[in-house]
Amino acid sequence: MQTLQKLSNRLFYLPSYQKTDRPILAAVAGDNQTLLIDAGNSSNHAQLFKEQLAPHNITGDILALTHWHWDHVFGLHEMDMPSIANYMTYNNIKELQRFSWEDKELDERVEAGIEISFCADAIKLELGEARDVNITDPTLIFENRMQVNLGGVNCIIEHVGGDHSPDSNLIYIQEEKALFLGDCLYANMYAEKWHYTMEKMGTLLEKIETYDAELFFLSHHPAPLSKEEFASFFELLKTSAALTKRYEGRQEAIVKAMTSHFQRELTEEDLEIIGYFVNGYAK
Ligand SMILES: [Zn+2]
Repeated sequence: MQTLQKLSNRLFYLPSYQKTDRPILAAVAGDNQTLLIDAGNSSNHAQLFKEQLAPHNITGDILALTHWHWDHVFGLHEMDMPSIANYMTYNNIKELQRFSWEDKELDERVEAGIEISFCADAIKLELGEARDVNITDPTLIFENRMQVNLGGVNCIIEHVGGDHSPDSNLIYIQEEKALFLGDCLYANMYAEKWHYTMEKMGTLLEKIETYDAELFFLSHHPAPLSKEEFASFFELLKTSAALTKRYEGRQEAIVKAMTSHFQRELTEEDLEIIGYFVNGYAK
């Protein structure tokens, strides 16, 4: 079972859970109000988070969504509070509300290429047999950037996009120097081949660099990354993008150049990331 982690009097998070693709959920407690980050992938997930916050006397007041994907929004009804989304996330949620989540319809959407089996499998596993999915409308809709003052803590929510999902937001907790990246640094999975594009990654990395953060949350990583850990992930993405451009997507040449750049044997993660850039090169 996932256990709530307290990082400070202001910052709490429930770790991700790989088996059913539950993302990290977080609570930012201000003097006046508490902001929750993401709604979770089911009512059970949202409920577990609320139950674990209760002993700390924390109930959320407002919820911010990182993006529209099912695992971040299916808990909205259970969360039962005003929610913040950018207009793209809002529109995507309106689309999701029309879908059935029963096996037959899910399988049909996978067949039609609208859904991917990775998500369909996790949905079946998380929601079990009785699937009562009720995705509530977001209440506060913004376009590019907004600030939420919780009392002694300010949160900046910025729509940044990226390969994973065009509606992705960053959520920056100023006083805690914590940056919530959602899934924005993960690959585009809704494509024939999972991929990154050099252009979108370049723009995204530039935006991320403008935030002075010491703690970085990637929704499906088990724990937040320190400044040093994030810097090496950042460097890996930046170098892979640059080498993909220089070697015009030729995998072997990129691997060779990267090995000599880092002066070490490449890890499985390195090779996976290069693979995503190679897949995206022709796009
Ligand atoms: Zn996602």
